[in-house]
Amino acid sequence: MKKFFLLALSASSISVACSQGRTGDPKLSELWDPVPTIVKPGATAQDAPSDAIVLFNGKDFSSWIGQGGKAVEWTLENGAMTVKPRSGTISTKQGFGDCQLHIEWRTPSVVKGEGQGRGNSGIFLMGKYELQVLDSYENKTYSNGQAASIYKQLIPLANASRKPGEWQTYDVIFTAPRFAADGKLQSQARITVIHNGVLVQNNAALWGGSEYIGIPEYKPHSMKEPLILQDHGDLVSFRNIWIREL
Ligand code: MG
Repeated sequence: MKKFFLLALSASSISVACSQGRTGDPKLSELWDPVPTIVKPGATAQDAPSDAIVLFNGKDFSSWIGQGGKAVEWTLENGAMTVKPRSGTISTKQGFGDCQLHIEWRTPSVVKGEGQGRGNSGIFLMGKYELQVLDSYENKTYSNGQAASIYKQLIPLANASRKPGEWQTYDVIFTAPRFAADGKLQSQARITVIHNGVLVQNNAALWGGSEYIGIPEYKPHSMKEPLILQDHGDLVSFRNIWIREL
């Protein structure tokens, strides 16, 4: 009851109450428990906070496995990993559900191809829900397939793409879908994405797993699944990848 009362209080109603001279005990509306955990932030917003799991720090693939369980064949150079075309996707060894993800990516400075054939990769949350990576700088394609789209589902709110060859950032807040014991969907996956500091997906609800053809649908899966990076045949690079479990 007390909690409900407090939730109903807004900052503005508190200030109005003060200005109207409401009397009573101000301590009754103080919550002291729980105390939020101390998280030491990184030196900049790009750097991993103290409780983050660093998935890639530019030095090795120790948190990753290649497609089909083989070793990762992607190139490691200058603190970045780059897709080795046709070597396959890579996935984290660890599974994740609700999370905050930071990832930096770069499409080739030498522009080849157009539309979906230009700097294509992807970040598959839970291995199923693709946040598109594409060179969308002056490169027309279908809107729900451009950079920062949820592929073939959600159009980004803006095109915040940097030029090819420049590093770009995604900061993602992802809520996993929930399934009942009988496999029925209880709640859709939700995603918020900030692309180079610009909000591009705002707590948007996903329609289901990413599909190249046809309507996406949800298929039940566990609460934690590996993160997958796509090999779409283009020389896309990644660096500074960290994740916080929520
Ligand atoms: Mg892709």
